[in-house]
Amino acid sequence: MSLLELESINSGYGHFQALFDVNLRIEEKETHAIIGANGAGKSTLLRTICGLIKTEPADKVRFDGQAIGAMSPHKRVGLGISYVPEGRWVFPSLTVHENLQVGAHSKRTGVWNIDKVYELFPLLARLKNRQAFGLSGGEQQALSIARGLMSNPRLLLLDEVSLGLAPVVVEKIYQAMPAIVDSGTTVLLVEQDVGQAMKFADRVTCMLEGRLVLEGAPGEISQEAIFAAYFGV
Ligand code: ATP
Repeated sequence: MSLLELESINSGYGHFQALFDVNLRIEEKETHAIIGANGAGKSTLLRTICGLIKTEPADKVRFDGQAIGAMSPHKRVGLGISYVPEGRWVFPSLTVHENLQVGAHSKRTGVWNIDKVYELFPLLARLKNRQAFGLSGGEQQALSIARGLMSNPRLLLLDEVSLGLAPVVVEKIYQAMPAIVDSGTTVLLVEQDVGQAMKFADRVTCMLEGRLVLEGAPGEISQEAIFAAYFGV
């Protein structure tokens, strides 16, 4: 049994279908990257997993064998699914420290706590009493990820980690990833930077127009295959 199993998912927004027959398995402790062009359905896939979009019948989405397709996002956090959305959402008027405390609301226990996330991102420790609205893009991204970890997820969903950040900042954020993986957390991330995804992930899946069109370990798939899957040529 895989940690996460999606079976023939067709989902979207009202009458607009954004995902078509999506079948995906994520193994425990795997690092899996979803790549694909704008509008391919990557964020919709993460929203379907975290519960912002529900699935019928509920057992088409299974977490650790349990049918979760009808479950609220809040309940899924309690099970160990943490979602860090695109756009570096932080509570702007709260301090860094308070943002992290909010992240601990699920009261799941595990390796992550405030001291551990400050160790992971020392820049946040230095900024702990600053309000989040004054932080740079990279600092806000670090804070969003750290807040996601505060619920001690078994599965961490990260949407567009590098979007809009300078390469040097992206490097800094990715430096924290091995420690997250070593803690036993399974990571499923959406990444537009294909090079970064290939460097970091154990497995990569490419989406095109709402479908999964290529999956494999970075060493197994050629540049040509990725190009073809990415652009649909
Ligand atoms: P991007 O990198 O641009 O975010 P993506 O691969 O994450 O792309 P999605 O955001 O999942 O793609 O979008 C998939 C499709 O669903 C697109 O056609 C998009 O316009 C549509 N879509 C996304 N969000 C909504 C929404 N809230 N309501 C209606 N349609 C939406």
